[in-house]
Amino acid sequence: MTHPMQAQNPRRETITLPPPMSGPAREIIVLRFGTPGARPKAYLQAGLHADEFPGMLALHDLVPRLAEAESEGRIAGEIVVVPICNPVGLSQEVHGALRGRYETAGGENFNRGWPDLADGVAERVAGRLGEDADANVAIIRQAMGDLLSTMPRETEITALRHALMTLAHDADYVLDLHADSEAEVHLYIGTPLWPDAADLAREVGARAVLLEEVSGGNPFDEACSGPWWSLARRFPAYPVPAACLSTTVELRSNNQVDETLGRKDAAALLSFLVRRGVVQGETGPLPELLCDATPLDGMQQLTAPVAGLILYRVKLGEQVREGQVVAEIVDPLGATTPVLAVTNGVLFARLEQRFAWEGRIIGKIAGADPLASRVGTTLLPA
Ligand SMILES: [Zn+2]
Repeated sequence: MTHPMQAQNPRRETITLPPPMSGPAREIIVLRFGTPGARPKAYLQAGLHADEFPGMLALHDLVPRLAEAESEGRIAGEIVVVPICNPVGLSQEVHGALRGRYETAGGENFNRGWPDLADGVAERVAGRLGEDADANVAIIRQAMGDLLSTMPRETEITALRHALMTLAHDADYVLDLHADSEAEVHLYIGTPLWPDAADLAREVGARAVLLEEVSGGNPFDEACSGPWWSLARRFPAYPVPAACLSTTVELRSNNQVDETLGRKDAAALLSFLVRRGVVQGETGPLPELLCDATPLDGMQQLTAPVAGLILYRVKLGEQVREGQVVAEIVDPLGATTPVLAVTNGVLFARLEQRFAWEGRIIGKIAGADPLASRVGTTLLPA
């Protein structure tokens, strides 16, 4: 008895990066589901900051669920999954610890400075947009792809950036999975995408949703979504929708690799894909929304005024009031210095390492009111 040849599921593609100065060339493994070019398209990656692990586990657990859906013919659109999207960062072992946030050679933050496609795309689409929003979306996506094909990619890092942007730029949904030092689930997302993305916030159980149109650092999620509202502003006579729902999903703490949470996150991501019609299937009732969205420039970054040991006085996920002592910095040789909340909101992130130097960010509070100190490049310091 012969069996029909099984199509590979998922389809696996390898992108080989130019070799670094020393050592072998590194590879990005891309897993593909559904029909290339089918809509909606979803792109999910984890480990851009390579020392943030929960997203990798979530995607590891999502892949067999998608493979099952594919074998049952339930992938309506196209799905691209990259569980280890930054093999460069993942190779950066320094004195016994993985250092995956910054490139060790050049010092650049892997999730800052992504290309802003708006100018180049605007040049390419000028005079070509019309009354039909769908047609405009197709023209803009094509122009983004053309522009990306001209991007430099001679070095390992530029090739990495080029590869990930090329995979993601034309997706309807881009989920870039991160984590914070010690944190509750939270999202960073473009203001024009809210409240449309509330279903994602509900599914993943976000305790904070930080909104910003232009954060100043051009992270990956914004490089995918930002050009749409930038182009809408440049071409006000024509309909240009926010055609890419792109977000940074912070799945708790960097080192929180937990079997139960991994499965829960994978189920949440799959539910989102079903709700959005990327995968056909059933979902349960939409979970409760656990927080209001707040502006990124209302997010207090608590900084240590002096160096010392950190004693937190507030638990992760607790509401704090303006003027409340959130932490104390203890000089082992002397004084204790309080660190105060300057806004009301939820403390959604803390620093895992309990020693801070002067100016070190030791916590984040999602406040509703913009803070004067944060207007401008709200994502910095990185
Ligand atoms: Zn990150």
